[in-house]
Amino acid sequence: MERIVILSGAGLSAESGLGTFRDAGGIWQKYDLEEVATPEGFARNPALVHQFYNARRANCAGAAPNAAHRALAELQQAAPDRVTLVTQNIDDLLERAGARDVIHMHGEVMRALCASCGHRWDVPMVMQPQDPCPACAQPDTRPDIVWFGEIPYHMEDIGAALSQADLFVAVGTSGAVYPAAGFVSEARAFGARTLELNLEPSETSRLFDTSRLGPASEIVPAWVAELLQRG
Ligand code: NAD
Repeated sequence: MERIVILSGAGLSAESGLGTFRDAGGIWQKYDLEEVATPEGFARNPALVHQFYNARRANCAGAAPNAAHRALAELQQAAPDRVTLVTQNIDDLLERAGARDVIHMHGEVMRALCASCGHRWDVPMVMQPQDPCPACAQPDTRPDIVWFGEIPYHMEDIGAALSQADLFVAVGTSGAVYPAAGFVSEARAFGARTLELNLEPSETSRLFDTSRLGPASEIVPAWVAELLQRG
């Protein structure tokens, strides 16, 4: 199988009931992003930020992977060293579908980070201000999330995978948030073919060789089945 890098976004988890950024009435619209998803917001009001991520953690725990998560996991299991899964999602639905080594460039809602010593651990369902770090005991802990204004994780690994990819695929992402929105151009510059799988044309659709439109739970399994048949 050719080397494939798959970047996923909120659209992958939309049919699992985890709203996208833009969903009308969704959790993201009830909060001001400046207040809940920036380091400055956390410094101003950590209780509000924890409340936001506690709610997202509960949503995540109550959600189940859908057919698109399962198809991507199946593809990876068929060729683990050829398929790199990069996600902007902070949920763990790809892992619960059986995927391994998922690159969470924006962090993980089920993990916590100590800002003092860098220790990471699985969070209890509810975090609150001043929770002590289990490693160094400093009350300097936070959700392990990359907030706006912070540098996404694993950029070197992602760059290396993009440079070797034969095919770059974006699933359920609007192309509005950088640096992920730039991966399609990066992959193209390295010579990869590019495919977009999204509900509707995105802001970066014109940069892809091909777009397939529809719900992820339908178009992702169909694409994976084609690839696996081809071998
Ligand atoms: P986005 O909300 O900006 O875009 C979602 C995209 O998915 C849109 O293009 C939309 O047309 C498409 N979409 C919606 N439903 C779909 C479906 N059923 N099938 C296929 N496509 C569908 O999200 P983004 O591009 O991931 O970027 C926004 C930021 O929001 C990211 O940083 C991400 O970390 C964060 N976010 C994460 C989650 C999550 O972890 N589940 C949820 C919401 C937002």
